[in-house]
Amino acid sequence: MTTLVWDYLAEYEEERDDILDAVDHVFRSGRLVLGNSVRSFEEEFAAYHGVAHGVGVDNGTNAVKLGLQALGVGPGDEVITVSNTAAPTVVAIEGTGAKPVFVDVRAEDYLMDTAQVEAAVTDRTRCLLPVHLYGQCVDMEPLREIAGRHGLAVLEDCAQAHGATHHGRSAGSMSDAAAFSFYPTKVLGAYGDGGAVITSGAETADALRQLRYYGMAERYYVVRSPGHNSRLDEVQAEILRRKLRRLDQYVQGRRAVAERYAEGLGDTELVLPRTTPGNEHVYYVYVVRHPRRDAVIEALKSYDIMLNISYPWPVHTMSGYAHLGYAEGSLPVTESLAGEIFSLPMYPSLSPDVQDKVIDALREVLRTV
Ligand SMILES: *Cc1c(COP(=O)(O)O)cnc(C)c1O
Repeated sequence: MTTLVWDYLAEYEEERDDILDAVDHVFRSGRLVLGNSVRSFEEEFAAYHGVAHGVGVDNGTNAVKLGLQALGVGPGDEVITVSNTAAPTVVAIEGTGAKPVFVDVRAEDYLMDTAQVEAAVTDRTRCLLPVHLYGQCVDMEPLREIAGRHGLAVLEDCAQAHGATHHGRSAGSMSDAAAFSFYPTKVLGAYGDGGAVITSGAETADALRQLRYYGMAERYYVVRSPGHNSRLDEVQAEILRRKLRRLDQYVQGRRAVAERYAEGLGDTELVLPRTTPGNEHVYYVYVVRHPRRDAVIEALKSYDIMLNISYPWPVHTMSGYAHLGYAEGSLPVTESLAGEIFSLPMYPSLSPDVQDKVIDALREVLRTV
């Protein structure tokens, strides 16, 4: 059987009764849109993070976009983020009419280099948008300090960091608002699309509820424009409620997989993920580095192992973002990583046998490339 970086079928077999029960629960409830399951999930998801409010939305991209809009970001503003991210982070910024401004990442953990942020602040800057990429958190203390000094909002992109902590605090609880995706591959994944924003600000939460519901404060009366139809689906919300109870277990499963890779590959040329002090990593993706990455990936295909690169192109080098005006070489760490990184299979139900097959194949391939 082909080995892929992510697969949910074994997990589904284990959880099938519960998932199907969740679907039936909603279908029998008499309320198919914005019902009790969305409301309960919002409360439970916010409580998990120790923040006051949760607002379910239709996907992670819109979680970032509506989160920014609820914090007052709009046309003409600038939002400081990284180019080493999933393109949707940047899609969401541009969706508000604001301009993305990039700083480089650190070579040790591939995360926002917060030492570069202050120099990127202009009088148009409105918000800082750290991305807790691959499963661990950006250093939030310097960002909060810069934001405080310049009167900026901070929004965390937590699409890859469900369950991660930073000096004991949950990813998503360290800023004005935090955006999550429940795309199936994520650490907490739905059976389809989903997203949420959490915030301790009551006004921000109200704004989010309006923004996702056509801009309406109550039925049929618009108070905010532009509005969106960005509701979290009721069925996905009920599935997510069930899965949220197992989130810590999923994270433990991912950590066990990471430990086995560290044992099996720690003495090879591969650069394995490093957990930055103060962080607890949830290994959304297990990103490794090798100077001849393309040859390694190619050779593994003959073992029926199909790996992935997250991400092969830094956002600022894509043709769709040429208008942002970043020359090649402008973000050197981000650009050099993109040529060397690749991801090993990582999901909680990955069996030790399959994982050992990957480790053995990699050890063989690394001797020859
Ligand atoms: C997945 C992801 C998103 C987008 O989430 P969708 O639910 O796919 O829209 C945004 N930011 C990051 C960092 C992501 O990994």
